Amino acid sequence: MPTDLPSPDPAGLHALAEPERPATPAVGTRLCLRLLETTDVHGNLLPFDYHAGQADAPFGLARTATLIRRARAEVPNSLLFDAGDFLQGTPLTDITVQRGTGRHPVIGAMNTLGYDAVALGNHDFNFGLDWLERALREAAFPVTCANAVALTGGDGAAPLFAPYLLLERQVHDTAGGAHRLRIAVIGLVPPQITTWDRAHLRDRLDSRDMVETARALVPRLRDRGADLIVALAHTGIEDGPAYPEMENAALPLAGVAGIDAVLAGHSHQVFPGACPAAPDGVDARAGTLAGTPAVMAGFRGSHLGVLDLTLERRGGRWHTVGHRAEARPVASTTAPPVPPDPGICAAVAPAHAKTLRLIEQPLGHSTGPLHSYLAMVRNDPALQLVTEAKRAALAPCLAEAGLDHLPLLATTAPFRTGGRGGPQFFTDIPPGPLRLRHVSDLYPFPNTLCGVVISGADLREWLERAAICFNRITPGAKDQPLLDPRVPGHAFDVIDGLSYRIDLGRPARYTPAGELIDPGAWRIRDLRHDGTPVEAGARFVVATNSYRAFGGGPYAPIPAAAVVCDDQRAVRDVLAAHIRTTGPIAAAARPGWQFVPMPGTHVTFETGPGLRAYPEEIARLRLQDLGDSAAGFARFRMPL
Ligand code: MG
Ligand code: MN
Repeated sequence: MPTDLPSPDPAGLHALAEPERPATPAVGTRLCLRLLETTDVHGNLLPFDYHAGQADAPFGLARTATLIRRARAEVPNSLLFDAGDFLQGTPLTDITVQRGTGRHPVIGAMNTLGYDAVALGNHDFNFGLDWLERALREAAFPVTCANAVALTGGDGAAPLFAPYLLLERQVHDTAGGAHRLRIAVIGLVPPQITTWDRAHLRDRLDSRDMVETARALVPRLRDRGADLIVALAHTGIEDGPAYPEMENAALPLAGVAGIDAVLAGHSHQVFPGACPAAPDGVDARAGTLAGTPAVMAGFRGSHLGVLDLTLERRGGRWHTVGHRAEARPVASTTAPPVPPDPGICAAVAPAHAKTLRLIEQPLGHSTGPLHSYLAMVRNDPALQLVTEAKRAALAPCLAEAGLDHLPLLATTAPFRTGGRGGPQFFTDIPPGPLRLRHVSDLYPFPNTLCGVVISGADLREWLERAAICFNRITPGAKDQPLLDPRVPGHAFDVIDGLSYRIDLGRPARYTPAGELIDPGAWRIRDLRHDGTPVEAGARFVVATNSYRAFGGGPYAPIPAAAVVCDDQRAVRDVLAAHIRTTGPIAAAARPGWQFVPMPGTHVTFETGPGLRAYPEEIARLRLQDLGDSAAGFARFRMPL
C-alpha cells in the first residue's frame, strides 16, 4: 500500500530546521504544531474574476499564499494542507488546461507553496480518472483519498490513491528541543462522486462512507505509530443526525474516536466563522466540531485555515492539550486585501493570458442584460437562454431515437446566486457582445448534456424537489424570509416548456437531502404543457445534464433506462454554439413559472447589490429596497 510517500521539499517558503538528534521527549514536554489549510481553490490562482473580466478580486490562491508565508513565519512548526476541489472551477482550468498539454497551473502553484499533503475533492474527478492521474503526476506533494477505491474486475477493489499518509516531521518543543513527529493524514471525498461523475467513474471506481472509512483506519494508524491523526476531508458541516453516505459529514467525522483534527471543505463554509444557527456540536467560539479542533477555509482562496495544536507528552505519547482555530480572510471590509504573491502571479501569467484570449472571443450579441439577481424569484431570461440551447441541441438526437413525437422540455438552475459566494457571486452580463467568459459564467460546471424520458408524475416530483428552496409563507404576514438558507441556488431547477405555479403557503414536500417529508404536501399547482394539464401518465423528454440525471442533493437518480440520449457534449459548448448560431439574444422570458399570488403578503430576500443597476426590473416586480445586510447583500421586499 503506497502510504509512506516522500514529503515535498518546501523550498522557498519554508525555513527548514537544521537536522538535530531527536531527544526522547520528557514527560510534560510541550510543543505547538500549526496546521494550515486551503480548500476549494477551484482553479482560482490569481485575484482575477474571469466571469466579470476583473482584476483585483478579493480572492485567489496568490493572495492566500501571502497569508501562508506570514503564518509560517509566526511559528517554528507548521504543515500545509489542501482539502480538495483544486483542479476545476475557472476558465483557466476548465478551458485552457483542457486544451493544452502543459503542467496544470494549479499544481505548479501548489508545488511552489510546498504543500505537505492534499486530498481530492469531488470536482477533481470532473475530467475523468485518466486525466486526474496525468495531472497529479506533476505534483510534488502526496495525495490521499481513502474512500474511493478502484474496481479491478470481479469483486476486487484496490486503493487508487494513498488511503492515508504518514508524514514524518522534525518539530521543536517550546524549549527548542527537537522531536520526530509522525502525523497521519486521511483524505476523504463525498461518496457521491460515483453518482455525480458516473459517466467517468462507472466500472472504474467505488466509493465508501467517509465516517466508516475513517473509523476503520484510525486503529491501523495508531498501530503504525501515528502521534496525531488528521482528517483532511472534503466535506462540510450539515445539521441533523448522521446517515449512511452522508455528503457533509464533518461533524460525525470529528466525532470518530482518535481523530485529532478535522480540516474540512466542500460546502465552501468558513469555520470558525459567523454561523447564526449553529447545529449541535458546532462550536465556533471553541473552534471545534463534536469537541475536535477543526477549520474550514471558505473557497477560491478566500481564507487560510490556521489550526494551532498544543501537544503535551504524557504516558509515552503526545496528547492535544490545547488548540486555537482561526479562518484568516484574504480580504475584509475594514482593511485592504492582502497582496498576491508575485512569484505565483508570474508563474501563472502565460496560462492566464492564453485564457483571456480564449474567453474574450465574441460569440454573439444580447440586446438586454442577462443576470442571476432575480433567478430565484421570477421566470428568468438568462435561464431560458440555457434551456433553449439545450433543447435545440437535443432535438436532432430525439429524431434519431424515434422520440420526436414526445414534447421536449429542458431544465437548468441558477448557478451563481450569492450564498456563501458572497454579494458579488452573481451572473451579471450587460447588453452587448456575448463572449466565452459569459458562457462559462452562465454555465460554470463541466456537466454534459443528456435527455431523459419521464412521466408527468415524475415531472411534478422534479418540480416539488426544486420548490424546497423556499420557506413556507404564512398568508397575510409581512417580511418573511423567502429562501431556505439550507438549499443552494443551484438546486432550484426550472423546467422550460411548461407553465406552473408555486404555492408558498404549502409546506415543502422534500428535505434538502431529498427525503419525502409529507406525502400530502404539494407546492406545484396548475402544471400545464401547451395550456393542457399535465397527466400523470403522459410522457416527456427533458433535456438536462449528466449531473442531475444521476441524482444528488434533493434529486433522485433517474433510472439508466430512462436516459435516452447521453450526448457527452459539455452544456457549456452547447450554449456557446447556440449563441454563435442564433441571432441577437432578446433576453426576455417566455411565460413559465410564477408564485401563486398571496394578497397582503410580503416576503424578503437577499441578492447582489448589482441589481440596483436595473431599476425597471425592480419596478416590474414591485420590489422595495431595504438597504444592505451586514454581509453586503442587497435586501428587497417583494409582494406575493
Ligand atoms: Mg466539493
Ligand atoms: Mn468545492
